[in-house]
Amino acid sequence: VDLQLSTAERAWQERAREFADRWIRPLDHRREWAPEGAARRPWELIEAASRAGFRTCTVPPEFGGPEPPMSFLAEALVMEEFAAADPGIAFVFNHAMKDVRQIERLATPEQKRWFYPEYVRDHRYLMASAGSEPEHGADWLLPYADFHFDTAAVLEGDQWVLNGRKHCITNGAEAKLILIFAATDPSRPFAEGTSLFMVPRSAPGLRAGVIHDKLGLRFANNAEVVMEDCRIGRDMLLGGLHQGIRQRQGYVGENSLVSLGIKLGCARAAVETATNWARRRVQGGKPIIEHQAVGLKLAEAATLVEAMRSMCYRVAAAMADPQTYDARLNAMATWFGAEAAVRAALLAFEVCGCHGAWLDHQAQKHLRDALMFLPNDGTHTIHLLRVQRMLAELPAE
Ligand SMILES: Cc1cc2nc3c(=O)[nH]c(=O)nc-3n(C[C@H](O)[C@H](O)[C@H](O)COP(=O)(O)OP(=O)(O)OC[C@H]3O[C@@H](n4cnc5c(N)ncnc54)[C@H](O)[C@@H]3O)c2cc1C
Repeated sequence: VDLQLSTAERAWQERAREFADRWIRPLDHRREWAPEGAARRPWELIEAASRAGFRTCTVPPEFGGPEPPMSFLAEALVMEEFAAADPGIAFVFNHAMKDVRQIERLATPEQKRWFYPEYVRDHRYLMASAGSEPEHGADWLLPYADFHFDTAAVLEGDQWVLNGRKHCITNGAEAKLILIFAATDPSRPFAEGTSLFMVPRSAPGLRAGVIHDKLGLRFANNAEVVMEDCRIGRDMLLGGLHQGIRQRQGYVGENSLVSLGIKLGCARAAVETATNWARRRVQGGKPIIEHQAVGLKLAEAATLVEAMRSMCYRVAAAMADPQTYDARLNAMATWFGAEAAVRAALLAFEVCGCHGAWLDHQAQKHLRDALMFLPNDGTHTIHLLRVQRMLAELPAE
């Protein structure tokens, strides 16, 4: 594995770091406690990030994206820098990477000509991807024999009619385009009877439901997406009919990488917070970092951060070539990233004592944000179960 960053990757990293310092770190964190989801959304920051090229970083060059195209590793580097400043903001933008790449992979030339120009032009154009349902969370990621989404799509003339409810969808209340999974033939097995649709915010019958009030990642809104006889054109099917689940492999891989970048940024920030605190806080007659019991906690957390970074490079290198893509490695990365981030944030929280629990201290925020990684992406256990399945039944994916 080549651990050197290319010139372009280094440039993305530096730009992201500068942007985070200028726009994300100064965010008033009291704003994340605004009771209304809409008030929590920092549109001025989103527009600034868009103007700086972060919202369109994975758009192909022929449609106005960067040249050379952004590498997978650069996506993770940008996510790390954003997340080190605020993981919730990073969550908003990881959809600008993984969902936009999904369009590049699956859309027809006509669909691309429809999507990209408007996406590039509109600085408030966010994306979302909707699988989870109130009654089916982990189910669709580890489907049992006769499982199907409750959300269904039926073709009526020239229109698809969607009915159902998704929940916990990042950007679900704001995204201008939502990629929605729906059952298109429940008589077939799940992986052969589910399709993916591009549903514009303006589609009749589509509405945002409740914005969930959650523990961490509060700058990223998670919301219900409700479809009541929601009508979209026949040409809004993305990828082949009934192919929605089969086509997910690239998405799952990329998701695990950007997600690892976010977890890395969160853990890195936790270690920085705790180290700075332990250098300043004096107990027992000396800075607490000099007490071995405290220093060991920091040493463990810092080691986890380095292990996450190594895994990031390894996963990105494997993904750069379809021949070396390794689904098992990506599942491991999703699990390990959450495990390590939560552990590092917990250690950092402990080091900061009662001060770390006060809402104006960063330590509690790192831990709250890190805890959200456990149920995200399909739950912590499910990723380890996927690894176990692959170990037991190679090749399992
Ligand atoms: C911050 C955040 C952002 C999210 N963003 C999105 C998004 O943009 N789009 C989207 O579609 N979803 C999103 N989700 C939803 C997320 O993917 C779901 O939380 C996830 O699918 C798990 O569903 P659940 O929470 O209903 O857990 P459940 O499925 O109810 O699982 C509960 C517990 O049971 C265990 N369990 C469940 N099934 C099994 C089984 N078969 N075998 C063993 N154990 C099992 C789980 O591991 C877990 O511990 C997001 C979640 C979070 C927290």
